[in-house]
Formats: sequence, C-alpha cells, structure tokens
Amino acid sequence: MNAPFSPSTLDRLRSDLAASPRMLFIDGKFVAAASGETFEVIDPATGQVFAHAAGGDKADVDLAVAAARRALDGAWGKHTPSQRARLMLKLADLIEAAGEELALLESLDNGMPIMMARFGGVMGAAEQLRYNAGWATKITGETIDPSWPGEYHAFTLREPVGVVGSIVPWNFPFVMAVAKIAPALAAGCTVVLKPAEQTPLSAVKLGELIAAAGFPDGTVNIVTGFGKTAGAALVDHPGVDKISFTGSTTTGRSILHAATGNLKRVTLELGGKSPVVIFADADLEKAIPSAAMGIFGNAGQVCAAGSRLFVHESIFDQVVEGVSRRAASLKVGAGITPGTEMGPLVSQVQLDRVLGYIASGASEGATVGVGGARIEGEGYGGYFVQPTVLTGTAAGMKVVEEEIFGPVLCAMKFGDGDIDTIAASANQSDYGLAASLWTRDMSSGLKLAKRLKAGTIRINGGGAGVDPAMPLGGFKQSGWGRENGRMGVEAYTEVKSVTIAL
Ligand code: ADP
Repeated sequence: MNAPFSPSTLDRLRSDLAASPRMLFIDGKFVAAASGETFEVIDPATGQVFAHAAGGDKADVDLAVAAARRALDGAWGKHTPSQRARLMLKLADLIEAAGEELALLESLDNGMPIMMARFGGVMGAAEQLRYNAGWATKITGETIDPSWPGEYHAFTLREPVGVVGSIVPWNFPFVMAVAKIAPALAAGCTVVLKPAEQTPLSAVKLGELIAAAGFPDGTVNIVTGFGKTAGAALVDHPGVDKISFTGSTTTGRSILHAATGNLKRVTLELGGKSPVVIFADADLEKAIPSAAMGIFGNAGQVCAAGSRLFVHESIFDQVVEGVSRRAASLKVGAGITPGTEMGPLVSQVQLDRVLGYIASGASEGATVGVGGARIEGEGYGGYFVQPTVLTGTAAGMKVVEEEIFGPVLCAMKFGDGDIDTIAASANQSDYGLAASLWTRDMSSGLKLAKRLKAGTIRINGGGAGVDPAMPLGGFKQSGWGRENGRMGVEAYTEVKSVTIAL
C-alpha cells in the first residue's frame, strides 16, 4: 500500500501551522476573533503545542449567526434543491482531493491513526455529503384528506428549520463536523459550526474547502473556541433555531437547559456504555478481534465503544484471553507513525480521567488482567495509556456504570439464564446508544436484539462502521433524536400544514 502521506506534506503543514494561528470562518472570510484571543492546540502524541487557533467568543458567534441568517434569507435560501446538491457533491470531491492534508491534520490534532483519519474520517465525511446531497432533491411534504365538512386541498410543506448551531466533539472531529453540516445543507439550513477546543484544525480547513466549492458567504460559518464561551453563546443565541450536539451526556444536559430561552430545537447524540454479548455458540474467530477493536479502536474514545463485555461462562476464559492477547500486541504510538493501531488519548484531562477510572476499578475489587498503566518514555511523551482489560467487574462498580471514554474493557460472565436475564444485565445502564451481540442462533440473536434498549444493534459484526443511511442515536441518556438516514435530514426541517377550501 502507498504511504498514507508524503513527508514533505507533513513538513509544509507543520511550518504552516507554526507560522500563524488558524482563523475563524465567518461570512465567507477568515477573520481573527473579535477579542484577538488565540488558544494553544496540543499534539496529544507529544504533549507539545503545535498550532494556535482563534478563541472565538460571544461577539464572534453574534457575527456568525447574523451571517448565517443573511445567507438563509438571501443567496443560500434561493438555491434550488439541485443547486444545493451540486455544491455538496463538489465539496465532497474537494474533501477527497485534500485527503492527505486533512488526514494529517486530524491525526496530529486528535492522535488517531492516520489510516483511520484517512478512511473513517476523510472518506467517511465525503460519503456523508454525497449521501445527504441525494436527499436535497427528495425532501417532500404530503397531501392529506381532511375530514372536515366541505372540500379541501390540504398538504404539508417541509421547510428548513433555519439557522443551525452544530457543536461537535474531539473524538472524530472532521467526520462529525461534516456529518452535522451535510443534512443541514440538504434541508436548506445555514450553519454555525463549533468544533471542540481540543481539535479545531480540520474544521478550519473545511472552511477553506467550503469557500472553494462556491457556497454563498455565510452558508456555513466556523467558530473555534471553548465550550463554556463560544459553545454556550451559540446555545444561548436567540437567532439560532436548532442546536445539534454530539458530546458528553453532562454537557448535553446543560445544553438542554440553556436552549430553553427561545425553545430552539435540540438533537443530542451523547455518551454510551455499550454492551457486547458473546453467546457460547459464537464464531469466536470473529467475535474476539471485534470485541477488542470495539473498545481499543480510537483508544476507546468512541461514543458507541463496546465497553461492557458479557461472555457465556463456558467460553469466558477463552474470550478474555483472546482479547487480552490482542490488547498486549496492539501497536500503540503516534497517529502519524506508520503501523500504529492505537494512538494516544486526546488530552491530559482525558488521560487523568482514564487512569482515575482504572484505579477506581482496582479499588472496587476489579482485576487488571492486562494493561492498566500510562505508557511513557522515548516516543511516548504524550497521553498514552495501555489497552486495558478488567475482570472481576460487576454491576454497581463505577467502571461498569460510567462512560470511561478510553481503552478500558470491563469483562463479565453470564450463565445459562434465559434471554430476558441476559437482556436485563445488558440493559442495566443509564445509557442506550449501541449494543453488539454474537451468536450463530439467529432466533436468540433477534430475541435479544428486540429486548436491548439501544439505538444501534450489531449482530455478528454487522454495522461496525457508520453508514450515513443508517439511523444513529440513543435510548435513555444517550440522546435525543436520530442522525443519518431520512430521519437525520428531516430533523433539520419544520413541517407546515396548508389547507385550501375549494
Ligand atoms: P468533553 O467533556 O469530553 O470535552 P464535551 O461534551 O464537553 O466533551 O464537548 C463536546 C463539545 O461541546 C465541544 O465542542 C465543547 O466545546 C462543547 N461544549 C462544552 N461545554 C459546552 C457548553 N456549556 N455549551 C455549549 N457547548 C459546550
């Protein structure tokens, strides 16, 4: 396979990033924050500052929202659905063409392996745009036959919800940003995007590509900055009609409170503590590596990570040994190092949090089977932690109940109980984002799938990636609403019913 990037691109990118801070993208132009503030961007593989980004705040959010409103009422609002689709397809092509640089930015900024950044991130983002571009021309209302006396022509219109504030997290910064703007643009909305403060760089590059694609000024605006300032200003803003948020359940809850001012629409894709259930008859050659990468992939910083492993007691030791062997053999390193399978955690905060959880598991009686420690030394100056498997864990322990967002698996066994008992254990969580199960008996598999309280169910490895056509979202405290698919686009529309008396 060709090298995923050329060293000269990396050198150019590094010196470019060192030379000047990344700007805000407002009304089609790159501008400094009104306050003149910038903040440091840290490479999680080294712990060193390697870039700066504009520290947007309320004043910048005000300008961005005003620009988005002008575009909605003006040039973008006048685009036909097929014109919108064409621009989206063009942006997808530009993203693909800039794939090398985007993947490098993403890998340096977040720490993820470069191949994941290239294929899951950049290509995934282009596919989000292409899928959603198809919807732009297919959003329709319906005709309805009312039962009032008399004769009527009645129908519904689906209109863009308006100016959307999109707030995204740091774990998959680029694809998340694009997955937020794509359905919004398909529906005819305009957007103010706020990337996470830990990972602002690929979103700023997205601004360049949006400008190059020829979107009218103000259609998409990008305000880098902190959650408590720029994010909160966006959520609070009376000129924003909808907030689409992906992030932690704690922040999601505070966003809900803050959005009550103008009762803006809110969709939330939040945390998870997703179960992986392996029955005695499962194909272990597939189930074991999948269970391992389901928690160690992207260093466990995945909202749908399979963090609670339930294994039938007859195969428990075999599965735990297999997953542990994979954990011990994983190539951990900087995302841009060829062959890296797991990168660092995103930040010191995240490292402290994950190590804190491992310590808490041990103090509550769990056994650290493999991993459990920070990785330090030559080439590991950043926030590296070993892939970790905890056994002897049980319901009620903090490590089993709370989202760790790191490469830490809690393994538990189940006996010959009925499906309801297994489902009850798997459902014993405040979260309900995803669940995986492995069995050759599809009757048991489907019975369990029906009983699990989760928005995404994966059977025998199905649905391991995100497909823009498949609805994604959570039961319980994992969120409100669904992204992707028809529902994902419709979440950016308002329905209006119109009745004509004939
Ligand atoms: P984490 O705690 O791991 O950083 P968050 O859920 O807090 O995850 O962050 C996800 C996104 O939400 C980021 O873009 C962050 O800046 C933003 N954010 C954090 N707090 C707020 C807030 N109070 N209002 C709006 N956005 C916020």
